[in-house]
Amino acid sequence: MERTDPAAANKTPDCAKPTDNSTADPRTDPARLPLLQLDEVKVHFTVQKGLFGAQTVRAVDGVTLSLQPGEVVAIVGESGSGKTTLGRASLGLVKPTAGHVRFDQQEISRFSAAQRKAFRRRAQAIFQDPFATIDPYMTIFESVAEPLVIHGIGTAAERKERVYAALRDVRLTPEEEIANRYPHTLSGGQRQRAGFARALVLQPDYILADEPVSMVDASSRAELLYLLRELRDRRGITFLYITHDIATARHFAHRIAVMYLGRVVEEGPAGQIVDQPLHPYTKALIAAVPEPNPENRRQTRPVLQGEPPDPSHVPSGCPFHPRCPAVMAGVCAKAVPPLREIAPGQWVACFLFDGQK
Ligand code: SF4
Repeated sequence: MERTDPAAANKTPDCAKPTDNSTADPRTDPARLPLLQLDEVKVHFTVQKGLFGAQTVRAVDGVTLSLQPGEVVAIVGESGSGKTTLGRASLGLVKPTAGHVRFDQQEISRFSAAQRKAFRRRAQAIFQDPFATIDPYMTIFESVAEPLVIHGIGTAAERKERVYAALRDVRLTPEEEIANRYPHTLSGGQRQRAGFARALVLQPDYILADEPVSMVDASSRAELLYLLRELRDRRGITFLYITHDIATARHFAHRIAVMYLGRVVEEGPAGQIVDQPLHPYTKALIAAVPEPNPENRRQTRPVLQGEPPDPSHVPSGCPFHPRCPAVMAGVCAKAVPPLREIAPGQWVACFLFDGQK
């Protein structure tokens, strides 16, 4: 089945195989409506490139995705795949060139001022660099309390209690001491936790987490991932988790969508995508994950051939064909492969699977 009609696109995929996250999977009621829906979203930019004049960058080129309440969907891909632009479109931070972004069944581009303000309370972001949200000249208390002040929530005493509760939630304790400190006195992991606290203090329903653990060291990364999992399970927050690291996506997400040059090339339950990848690009991403077993340290890992993708020069046909180890002459450069359901809940855009399903 090709993903052509929105109803099919919005269906909740079956979890045919239990994954690490299957026990925490919130999608128990198929009648629940998605919290966030992206339908055929395109984001194209025009850029000036030296002698070549204006060029169109197809950062996102027709992505359809839906997130159920409490669901975590990871968008995985290299730099230039369009994953960050897609995340920003989900928050209304960039305007799609075409397609629809709906939050709670409402088109976000048509929000009234009051609806937009309510959306800003319910939808938050965590970025790679905590200084994107935390002011270096404000104390941690002031930074975390600022969204409450902006939205006029609570008395001073109530705000203080909510800030302290958010700091405890992200294990920044003793909270009274941490609250009075400035960001430069904290470690990188603690600063990122303060960014999480700022996003959590408004008790959002949806969080865009854009590479939230990639700037911290390995031990802080593991702690932050456990913290995100705990918040997911305890608070039932819906996350769009943007990452280049498919290993962390498996740890945190219910579902993974792999992006290449602005398109989703494979999507499905996280465990299924990592254990039984079908698309050659997904296989290459998984093969590149470092092997933690020291006995395998001398093993050479396959490296993706060719240049990283340039979204202003999308190849004809299957965009992955110049780098694909399984490319078929006379087939792959001629047309864009459609995203089709190849295994239960697993959607793949690749001509290798023509004739299946
Ligand atoms: Fe490779 Fe062809 Fe499949 Fe593209 S369609 S991923 S080039 S085999």
